[in-house]
Amino acid sequence: MYINGEWVDSASGKTIKVLNPATEQVVGNVPEGTAADAKCAIDAARDAFDKGKWSKLTPSERSLIVFKIADVIERKLMQLARLESINQGKPIKLSRDSDFPFGIDNIRFFAGASRALEGISSTEFLGTGTSIIRREPVGVVSCIIPWNYPWMISTWKIIPALAMGNTVVAKPASMTPLTLLEFAKAMEEAGVPKGVVNIVTGPGSTIGEEMVKNEKVNMVSMTGSTNTGKEIMKFASNNLKKVSLELGGKAPFIVFDDANLEAASQGAVVGGFVNAGQDCTAATRFYIHENIYHKFVNAVVAKAKKIRVGNPLKESTDMGPLVSESHRSKVEQYVDIGKKEGAKLLLGGRPPSGKQHGKGFYFEPTIFSEAEQDMAIVQEEIFGPVLAMLPFKDPGDVIERANDIAYGLAASVWTRDIHNALTVTNQLRCGEVWVNDHLPLASEMPHGGFKQSGFGKDLSVYALHEYTEIRHVYIDTCGQVKKPWHYTVYGNKRDVIKQEQ
Ligand code: NDP
Repeated sequence: MYINGEWVDSASGKTIKVLNPATEQVVGNVPEGTAADAKCAIDAARDAFDKGKWSKLTPSERSLIVFKIADVIERKLMQLARLESINQGKPIKLSRDSDFPFGIDNIRFFAGASRALEGISSTEFLGTGTSIIRREPVGVVSCIIPWNYPWMISTWKIIPALAMGNTVVAKPASMTPLTLLEFAKAMEEAGVPKGVVNIVTGPGSTIGEEMVKNEKVNMVSMTGSTNTGKEIMKFASNNLKKVSLELGGKAPFIVFDDANLEAASQGAVVGGFVNAGQDCTAATRFYIHENIYHKFVNAVVAKAKKIRVGNPLKESTDMGPLVSESHRSKVEQYVDIGKKEGAKLLLGGRPPSGKQHGKGFYFEPTIFSEAEQDMAIVQEEIFGPVLAMLPFKDPGDVIERANDIAYGLAASVWTRDIHNALTVTNQLRCGEVWVNDHLPLASEMPHGGFKQSGFGKDLSVYALHEYTEIRHVYIDTCGQVKKPWHYTVYGNKRDVIKQEQ
């Protein structure tokens, strides 16, 4: 672990085995941190914030260091992308050509944008003084990272926190710690002072909880499941920490009968099976206009049959394994539930056969048709390569069904009619809607949910805002001893009038 600029083992001396989900082999051992280790990391971050220079640097000085972090990662991109694929199971083309280039772009965006934040214009709102709005760092920020995009999502939290002058304690998911530890090395090389960033490894139930409960922490930023998000809110209430949560999703994918079906079916396969469906914005519930339902479903099934499931390090692989054996059994259980509930299994539904899949937590691309709104496979987050198709007739009804769910992260609408696109988009209760596409994110645009998908934004200037407190500074400019309003507390109104005369 990386605490106060030193590489250290856990106080317990214990380690956690890190597996490659494609081979089931151990690819590393990391310290199994304890609450005591998390406390050390928090103390280091607290001291660095209270006594160190990081929060007092100018935005330009911090920004230069943050740009250097991006440069170091870019230099090591091939090595890190490979490590991410080995640890998480994602295809090398996804980590090398998407996660890392996008994450590097995110870092550079935050480095630049942190120098250009705007506030409400300052003026003499009360006539007797001038007002200034300041954005102050929050203090010590705990960043809790998930296993689906272990490095990329860490940049969404650690970097805006740093760019705004906070200090950080970050924790990777226990299954996927390797690239975050490499990230610490890159930050060290770029010149981030000791104690400003600390990385601890170990279970959420011990070090994660300490990072949330500890009263020296001022903010918690987490991506993960809705249940863990609810626990975090409870624990963070002890000293009323600021909380930013990006939680589960169950994105609807709505196709009208005027849509370009070739583009929509291509978008369905990409949006549904990205990262083997282990993506909170992945398309999962497909509402298809009844006029094109069979044609669209057949097109998606035909394309999904061509998905190449296999070794993540092979250039030709489209879909790697799921992250763990227990996650694969969770996905498999949902397939059984879907069958029992009466949905029709059109494709997949089990681990693939064949020698090349003998080891590894692989699962076939899976498609259900004839799904119903109240089925568990439509309502609950499966987080695997499982799509559910539902026909619709009436646009009003489809909006109601798309919103009839606990989550509200992302959605897409497929139509050639701009009026229809905007009408539907404006009525969807979620934080992100794509029209005639599914998945694209931009460093400049916010990402985050409504409802039980959480609150607070990653990416964009809104993320920079998350990691600040707003302070109003009022400076008297009139120089009077008795201000016009003073009589309401002390003295008589006529004295003020006299003074004005
Ligand atoms: P969790 O929400 O449990 O894990 C996310 C992060 O939170 C991990 O770093 C985890 O650590 C940490 N954590 C767990 N418990 C606590 C706690 N009590 N206090 C503080 N931190 C904690 O997700 P799971 O890994 O259990 O995945 C379950 C489901 O969550 C998935 O199937 C998927 O549906 C959803 N999920 C959603 C994600 C998203 O992108 N929104 C990402 C990941 C999961 P540790 O790994 O050590 O337990």
